[in-house]
Parts: sequence; C-alpha cells; structure tokens
Amino acid sequence: MECTITKLLTDGDRVSGAFGYWRESGRFVTFKAKSIVIATGGIGKSWKVTSNSWECTGDGMALAYEAGAELLDMEFVQFHPTGMVWPPGVQGILVTEAVRGEGGILRNKNGERFMEKYDPKRLELSTRDVVARSIYTEVKEGRGTPHGGAFLDISHKDAEYVKRKLPSMYHQFKELADVDITKGPMEVGPTCHYVMGGIRVDAETGQSSVPGLFAAGEAAGGLHGANRLGGNSLSDLLVFGRRAGLAAAEHAKKTATPSLDNAQIEEAERQVLAPFDRTDGENPYTIHHDLQDVMQRLVGIFRTDEDLRQALAELEKLKERAKKVRVEGSRLFNPGWHLSRDLQCMLTVSEACTYAALARTESRGAHSRLDFPKTEDAWGKKNLVIVKKSGAMTLLEVPRGPMPAELTQILAEDQ
Ligand SMILES: Cc1cc2nc3c(=O)[nH]c(=O)nc-3n(C[C@H](O)[C@H](O)[C@H](O)COP(=O)(O)OP(=O)(O)OC[C@H]3O[C@@H](n4cnc5c(N)ncnc54)[C@H](O)[C@@H]3O)c2cc1C
Repeated sequence: MECTITKLLTDGDRVSGAFGYWRESGRFVTFKAKSIVIATGGIGKSWKVTSNSWECTGDGMALAYEAGAELLDMEFVQFHPTGMVWPPGVQGILVTEAVRGEGGILRNKNGERFMEKYDPKRLELSTRDVVARSIYTEVKEGRGTPHGGAFLDISHKDAEYVKRKLPSMYHQFKELADVDITKGPMEVGPTCHYVMGGIRVDAETGQSSVPGLFAAGEAAGGLHGANRLGGNSLSDLLVFGRRAGLAAAEHAKKTATPSLDNAQIEEAERQVLAPFDRTDGENPYTIHHDLQDVMQRLVGIFRTDEDLRQALAELEKLKERAKKVRVEGSRLFNPGWHLSRDLQCMLTVSEACTYAALARTESRGAHSRLDFPKTEDAWGKKNLVIVKKSGAMTLLEVPRGPMPAELTQILAEDQ
C-alpha cells in the first residue's frame, strides 16, 4: 500500500515527522521521525509534454520548501530531445538515447540531416540540450514533421540488428504508433525529462538546511550542474542515496526524540480535506491542464523575460484558482482528490522554476534565454537559491562553493 506525504512536521527548527494518507483507503497517517530522507523524484508533470510518470509532481521539493529548506538552481530543467510526438495519447513517452547511439539519424521534413548545421562534430550524439533545441528550432521554422517533430531513422540498419539492439523501442512504436522502425522513421520531439535543481544539500551527507531533513536523487539539487548527462541519474541515486541514508541514521542516533505538534497535524488534515467541503470550486484536472499549458508555452526550452513575467502572472491566477479546488466522492482511492494536493506542490515548484529562470540572465546548459544567449562567467560563480521568508518566495544569489581540483582540470581540458 502506498502512502503520500502531504506535510513535513516540525519541532522548532528541526523536522519531527510527516503527515500523509494511504492512497488506497484515504486514511490518514502520521510518522514521528528524528531524520527524514526526501527521495520523491522530479517535477515533469508541470509540463504538458513529459517523459515523467504521474508521481513526478515535485512533492518533496515543495514540502521541504514549506518546512524551511532551500531550493537550488530550479531553472535547470532538462528537455530530452526525443519523446514520441504521435499519437496524442502517448506524446512525451521517451525514445531512448540508444536509438541515436546505435546510429539513428535525425532529419527534417525536407530530408535534411539538420544536426550537421547545429553541431557538425557530434551530430546526433550532441548533448541533450543542443539536440532538443535543434529539433525545436526546425519545427518552429516550418521544417517539422506532420505531427510537429523530427524524423529519427534507424531503418538503414539491418532489421534483425535493430530488433536485437532496441527491442523495447521496436515494440513501443509498433504497439503505440503502428510504426515499424525497421522499415521507416519515428517521429520524435523534445519532452520534459529531468530537473537538475532541487533541495539544496551538503554533498557528503545529503543534509538540507533544516536539521534532520536530508534529500537524495532527483529531488536534491546541484549534483548535475546545469545539464545532466544521460545515464548519470541512476549512479547518482546509488552513491548519494547511500550517503544521505548513512548521515540520516547517524543523525537519528545522536538526536533526542522530537515531539509531534497536534495543531500541525490538525492543520494538515484540514488542508487535505478542504476540497471535499467546497460547493462551487473548480475541478483539479482543469487547473492542472492550464498549469501544464503555461509551463509548456512560457517556461519551456527557450525562455525570454517577457514570457517568464507572463508565466508568473499566470501562475498567480492559477494559485488563486487552486485555493478553491473542489473534489467529489470519498477518500477511497480518489485520484482527483490526490491531484488536488499534488497541484499545490506543482504550483510551488513551477513558481520556483520560473522565478529562477527569470533571474538567470544568461544561457547555460538546459537553461536557454533568447534574450541572453551567451554563457556568462560571472553567473558560473553563483547559484540561485529559493527560500520561504515571511511567507513569500524569496530568491537569493549565493557564491558557488570551490570546485574540486580534479573537476577544474577536466573542465579545462574539455575547453
Ligand atoms: C522514462 C525515463 C527514462 C529514464 N532513463 C534513465 C536512464 O536510462 N539512466 C539514468 O541514469 N536515468 C534515467 N532516467 C532518470 C531517472 O530514472 C530518474 O532521475 C530517477 O529514477 C529518479 O530517482 P528518484 O529515486 O530520485 O525518484 P523516483 O524514482 O522518481 O522515485 C520517487 C518516489 O517517490 C514517491 N513519491 C513522490 N511523491 C511522494 C509523496 N508526496 N509521498 C510519498 N512518496 C512520494 C514516488 O511515488 C516514487 O516512488 C529516466 C527517467 C525517465 C522518466
């Protein structure tokens, strides 16, 4: 049985536990804890086209932020270049990088191998941000495929080889799109995939700025800089998940048992039950749909000052609508009710992402500003931190910590 945490409980400035509900029964549950490790994954569900599952609603980041933790570099959201674009029901589902790794070629509707123009050296094997921006540009300039993507073709390889090397892709396209990838191209386009930002933690311990609160995995920020390389997330989870777990256990051993505050628990109950009590509120699905539209249109692959300011204004309106969200039925497995709570988290992380994207007046990694296309050295020396102060989302520029000598050397060699 799965439990969804909706609030972190605190005892003074430290965490004391968590409140949530069992998804199936809707019954409430409270945990008392000396240490908590957040490992709730990403935020992709705030965008319309995403490879992420229904779980990726940024809960852990939003809960940590509400409990006083800092969010780091939330503007760095990665768009994987190749998601399915057709049919609509499967839009965003990932098309693995292995297709390009095995020799897949990207072409526009005129048959041009357009990566020759954007990255003549690495072509289709260029970094995710470059390939995603290239496909996006081809589509925007009128050279997209019938369903608004690019053609990815591996059919020049022997059919048996393709089936052996890419069995899941072969079946995925056959079953979901009725396309045989051994005979013709796939249609692909960028899909929101991963967030490099997240809860600000110490690299050795996963400790956040809130005593007893740790984070690891995609919910933690900073490990992958401005642009994660393919494959690095799973190794990140193993290494930094272990560090966070060990540090959390160590912390628990030397900490006194916290006390739970009944007033906080009652408030958490009130918050999650409120949507049942309203008689004239809005459906959570409509608000979620509109949130995804705002983030897709205005906080996507390419960003501008004007779009980001408009996004913030739209998010304010959505926050007001979400305050009046209404659901029907009972607490027994009720996805609409679950969404009404997830929506609050998605709005928090979307706002954090948009604020940070507006503040970072340069382009770096996955963050591309059309009005500030260059990477600026000065920005490379600082991080953007978001924290709740006097009830408001506050953005701070903080100096980046020293880079390990080994990493400095690798970067210098790369340049
Ligand atoms: C389609 C796809 C393919 C990928 N392929 C690769 C790859 O090949 N290599 C690679 O390195 N990376 C890959 N990634 C990225 C990688 O899978 C993710 O970054 C990674 O799984 C994140 O792990 P996590 O443990 O941080 O979070 P998740 O694996 O997302 O787990 C989070 C868990 O937290 C739970 N949760 C969320 N909110 C709450 C809440 N409020 N209360 C309680 N529980 C909650 C969720 O139900 C879930 O079980 C891929 C990602 C996608 C979407």
